[in-house]
Amino acid sequence: MSKKWYQRRDEEMETCPICKNEFELGQMYEYRGSLACEDCIEEMREKRDIERAEVIEEQNFKTDRFKGLDMSESQIGKANRAILKSDIEIAKKESKRLKDYEGS
Ligand SMILES: [Zn+2]
Repeated sequence: MSKKWYQRRDEEMETCPICKNEFELGQMYEYRGSLACEDCIEEMREKRDIERAEVIEEQNFKTDRFKGLDMSESQIGKANRAILKSDIEIAKKESKRLKDYEGS
């Protein structure tokens, strides 16, 4: 392989997901794990914030269903928890998803 090929590889180009233009990595901005060029970073910021709001809303919707339900150690509470076992598991997984998202 020629040396030139390696030199070309050194200039790492990233495609901006919004305008689809290519930029050197050093010229791009990052927001919550997503890259965008200088012109698009504001749009990316909005997009990521909307995505985040959607994840939170979705999660609230799922956990809202358990609100007001008897989840105690009483007979009814035990029955409720048994019935909703799979839903509770899903809600737990969703909150992990949000944590993973926040961490990125
Ligand atoms: Zn762009």
